[in-house]
Amino acid sequence: MTLRGRHLGAAFLFALVLALGSFVGWRYWRESLAPRATEAEILAANPDEPRLFRFAGNPAIIVLVVNDLAVQGEMLNRIAALTEKRGLPRDRVVSPEELTAAIAAAGATPATWYYGHDYSEKTLKRFVALANQTAGGLTGAEQRLFTMLDRISPAGGSDWLPWALITLPRAGLDPLLDDTARATILRHELSHGEFFSEVTYESHVMRFWREGLSATQREAFTAFLAHEEYDTGNEALLANEMQAYLVHTADPRFFNAEAVGLPEAELTDLRRRFIAGMPQSWMRSLLAR
Ligand SMILES: [Zn+2]
Repeated sequence: MTLRGRHLGAAFLFALVLALGSFVGWRYWRESLAPRATEAEILAANPDEPRLFRFAGNPAIIVLVVNDLAVQGEMLNRIAALTEKRGLPRDRVVSPEELTAAIAAAGATPATWYYGHDYSEKTLKRFVALANQTAGGLTGAEQRLFTMLDRISPAGGSDWLPWALITLPRAGLDPLLDDTARATILRHELSHGEFFSEVTYESHVMRFWREGLSATQREAFTAFLAHEEYDTGNEALLANEMQAYLVHTADPRFFNAEAVGLPEAELTDLRRRFIAGMPQSWMRSLLAR
């Protein structure tokens, strides 16, 4: 190697180290915007502004912990309206005024319409596209949410797709949101995140909805979910909510035998059979304890 060659070699090495260093730094920065966290860590995080985590048990589930229920509503209520609420359009994004009127008609407020949200990556992308096509774009709060999500998702290709977004209010925002309620909301939403991001779990849930439940039991769950204002024309939504309420909603204030109109013994049997058929995962390990 000539002197010139050695210089070139050194420069190349230096550039390589610099590039590697900034790549590692960039990855570290991206990780710091959504650190991996367990259920206990997510429940203990009480941020003063909306904060993202990736769930340690399944890092494809992104958890948004909100510090303000009104802000959560501004960020996510129009996505709920488009995706799962009965009586609202499935093919266009409603205006903020229409949404306010629909929530008032349901006897709720934008802040308490939902305590926890859950959406697949596909649903979120469809919302952004439809908001641009049919509603003049995103609101400021929605833009803030999608900017946060864009920052943590690498451009083009990723090792953790498809992902899902779920939300949880920090402690102390509402008298109902005590420790038990928040733990229940988180587990309920995590089960939705698993449904959206893990195809073996989704298949198990759909099969159980169609074959594990009797027609009467399916009707009972459908009536319960209609009462909760879910779109009963969406079978995947019904099946996904069925598993979340049946198996992952321990707090009786949110779900119980009376609410669904089925005997307790039948629900216990359904839970046992559902868990027995579940694919191996962080969730099955927790339930088996
Ligand atoms: Zn749910």
